[in-house]
Amino acid sequence: MALRIVIGLVLTAAAAVIALRRLWWLYRLGRSGQPAPERIEAVRTHAGRDAEVQATEVFGQRKLLKWTVPGIAHALTFWGFIVLFLTIIEAYGDLFSKHFAIPLIGTWAWVGFLEDLFAVAVLAGIITFAIIRLRNNPEREGRASRFSGSHTGAAWIVLAGIFLVVATLIIYRGAQINTGDFPYPHGAFASQIIGHWLHPLGRSANSGIETAFILAQIAVILGFGIFVTYSKHLHIVIAPLNVLFSRRPDGLGALQPMRSGGKVLDFEEADPDTDIFGLGKIEDLTWKGLLDLGTCTECGRCQSQCPAWATGKPLSPKMLILDLRDHAFAKAPYLLAGSDEAREALPDSVKAEAERPLVGSGDVNGVIDPDVLWSCTNCGACVEECPVDIEHIDHITGMRRHQVLIESAFPAEASSMLKNLENKGNPWGMGEDKRLEWISELDFEVPVVDGKIGDEVEYLFWVGCAGALEDRAKKTTKAIAQLLHTAGVSFAVLGPAETCTGDPARRMGNEFVFSMLAQQNVETLNEAGARKIVASCPHCFNTIANEYPQLGGNYEVIHHTQLLARLVEEGQLKPVNPVEEKITYHDPCFLGRHNRVFTPPREIMEQVPGVQAQEMHRCKERGFCCGAGGARMWMEERIGKRINTERIDEALGTDPDTISTGCPYCMVMLGDAIAAKKSSGEAKETLEVIDVAQLLVRSVATDQQAETGQSASDPA
Ligand code: SF4
Ligand code: SF4
Repeated sequence: MALRIVIGLVLTAAAAVIALRRLWWLYRLGRSGQPAPERIEAVRTHAGRDAEVQATEVFGQRKLLKWTVPGIAHALTFWGFIVLFLTIIEAYGDLFSKHFAIPLIGTWAWVGFLEDLFAVAVLAGIITFAIIRLRNNPEREGRASRFSGSHTGAAWIVLAGIFLVVATLIIYRGAQINTGDFPYPHGAFASQIIGHWLHPLGRSANSGIETAFILAQIAVILGFGIFVTYSKHLHIVIAPLNVLFSRRPDGLGALQPMRSGGKVLDFEEADPDTDIFGLGKIEDLTWKGLLDLGTCTECGRCQSQCPAWATGKPLSPKMLILDLRDHAFAKAPYLLAGSDEAREALPDSVKAEAERPLVGSGDVNGVIDPDVLWSCTNCGACVEECPVDIEHIDHITGMRRHQVLIESAFPAEASSMLKNLENKGNPWGMGEDKRLEWISELDFEVPVVDGKIGDEVEYLFWVGCAGALEDRAKKTTKAIAQLLHTAGVSFAVLGPAETCTGDPARRMGNEFVFSMLAQQNVETLNEAGARKIVASCPHCFNTIANEYPQLGGNYEVIHHTQLLARLVEEGQLKPVNPVEEKITYHDPCFLGRHNRVFTPPREIMEQVPGVQAQEMHRCKERGFCCGAGGARMWMEERIGKRINTERIDEALGTDPDTISTGCPYCMVMLGDAIAAKKSSGEAKETLEVIDVAQLLVRSVATDQQAETGQSASDPA
């Protein structure tokens, strides 16, 4: 007994020292990051919401359960370990007393039953994980495996470790039944089965097995505990914290303003020599950014949904996080060194790591390759999928900001777009008077705001640059105007007073141009007294609704599909003319994933008689990008398969007559891919991509306009 106590306590003390030293090192590394007072403030002021998030995401495993089989396996393991915490207490109690039982509940049969039930559940969970890993073996599946690029060896060690935790537990409990030391009279069914098998060995052998396996159980738990602090399984400890301090409702929608030292940068006063301009070094990350890096479980869910990765580009959101993490850990001795002398005394390998540029190609030993950085479309699939709420887009944007604002290093073809935004207020560099041309193509008046928006005007229609200036998108604009007019909704437009919202500049990383355009627009909108805005472009919609509040622009913003769906539901628009077509709807990322508008476009399609709606495999939250977001619309796509071609290939799988969407960027990208497919004979000549508004106007126009005495011309 004394030997049992000594060995158990010595093992525990040694493991505690190793694990605590590592945790202290991790804590110091986290503290070396930049302040993020807004994260602490958000937690402080939203305690109820945060408690709910912990309950649903951490304890309820909400995001994990979106993937049914691995989700259930993880939930079984997670809950198993919570319940099995009782058995750890029992194992330590057994070190000191052979007849130990947890006070009060330690002899209740149902407690013994639950412990065994969850031990078996954990076993079932890890067997499932093992099968999943074997079926997705990256050596065989290559890029198609979500574990490609993950540290698979460590994952197998953890699975083996968990197996040993359960195995040693059940064996010592089985032996305890035979020695009479087991506290539960019945209920512990798995332990009873093992006890039955061990019974023929006799009491003294069972006593030896009991001692050996109690110590083995403690040793395995301690070994597992140490391994956790040195591996991706650190997430067991820090994932709840990362979830707690993550953006709510998620890291989608708005981009965050640039901050330096925890304060929002004011470009009039900011100094690149003293202020932090985006992420230029790993130590420019905030502590929350560093927490993100440490929390990654390497599950590869993000990678499996990333359009850049799926089309053969070098960007994997998982590997981006892992590369940043590996660099942070390797540079940590440099960051944590207390003085120049201490830094000078570091090994050359650490000093070389500290010299690496955060973004740079292989020839300069960069941590993140520029091709990785600029491949991102900001589609949000990674953030949506990540079970531990890592905010990939924020990290990518941070690095882009530094590259654009400090290094002036970005894809050259995007520079004319930025110049056009600065000089002309739209990406094409067209004159502001062109913004009114679409109105002259309608046969009714569209009021243009001059000064204040009149009380009789319900909605300000934010047309957007594409909607006003790009031929295909102009058809959508005219369809929306026609439908609002038909429904009797009063609206007005800003016309030449409207400029780009700044979305492409911000997503590129040019926060300076964004803030210039955004401030101008907020001023215009506030002076006009805008209250309710309907936007047709999801990028404008996202920027005005989610980002303009950062600059004092607070409006009620809806997307045109939301407004049109409501008008149909309320009977102000009556789709009566059949459109006998098979139509598949493409979810724009900035409408769907970023802003959760999935249903209204589908409701409109449902209401159009004759339409046969056919979903693509990747739809709604799992929709696949068109390739244009994140300012990718203005960059060449030179690596891998084109994202828009991949999307159209999927759409063609549904054999559609028409592809519908709700975004001018998507219209252009999908339209281009369809044109290429037509010229290679892979798509029928009649196939077209249209906005849901164009579909609706085809069904509504003739009939309802006749009723209201208007022209039946189809603006689409
Ligand atoms: S936002 Fe989209 S493209 Fe960018 S890393 Fe995430 S999944 Fe990939
Ligand atoms: S970033 Fe999130 S989704 Fe991607 S591998 Fe890490 S934990 Fe999984």
